Amino acid sequence: MTEIRDIVAIDGPAGAGKSTIARRVAEALGFAFLDTGAMYRAATWWAMHEGINLDDPAALEKATSEMDLDLQEDGGITRVCVKGHDVSDAIRTPEVTRNIHKLDRSPGVRALLVELQRATGSRGPTVAEGRDIGTVVFPKAKCKVYLDASIEERARRRAEEFTRKGLAVDIAEVRADIRTRDEKDMTRAVAPLRRADDAHVIDTTHMTPQEAVDAIVALARSAWSGR
Ligand code: C5P
Repeated sequence: MTEIRDIVAIDGPAGAGKSTIARRVAEALGFAFLDTGAMYRAATWWAMHEGINLDDPAALEKATSEMDLDLQEDGGITRVCVKGHDVSDAIRTPEVTRNIHKLDRSPGVRALLVELQRATGSRGPTVAEGRDIGTVVFPKAKCKVYLDASIEERARRRAEEFTRKGLAVDIAEVRADIRTRDEKDMTRAVAPLRRADDAHVIDTTHMTPQEAVDAIVALARSAWSGR
């Protein structure tokens, strides 16, 4: 495979602002945008919908290979379709979020999704965000960023998001969920979340989303101009 280089790879833990920031960076640069978390979410939703045993890696891999995943950018959100069902909202429920770790540690499931991610990246310059973009999916990406923020701030942002959606929130519970997810993402044997050696770390704890976008756009412009 020829290595795909025209990529801004953005990794980091839950709640660091990756989706919002990465999407705006893509708009500013005129690049495509790829939300890889949406793919793991869609595969989880599909396995649950099909009543697959989530502890059976072979069954999960088979279901993932059959889900006919389609992602389309539509007015600032990613429309996610699985076998023709629009699951854009359904993949964001706490039930799906809680079950993702059953799939994300399966090498077979990851291989299928990474193949789709590379296919997208090979179509043209792309901003891709996730957990293993700079380390596994696009190791030759021209610009790599690791977005971080304190756990307190990430929990506060998540709680604010839930409140905006009209959902009841218990901040201690949100914080505990994020902590559990961090630990699972960082300690799994396959493609754990970690900063690539050549990634720029941006801590967004005290930054507005726009400040983070500007910082990444500047890094990308200098990477593309070869400086
Ligand atoms: O970014 P988002 O919160 O939508 O990701 C949901 C989950 O999908 C992560 O917590 C992780 O379990 C999984 N994921 C992954 N690799 C990626 C992107 C997401 O394992 N590249």
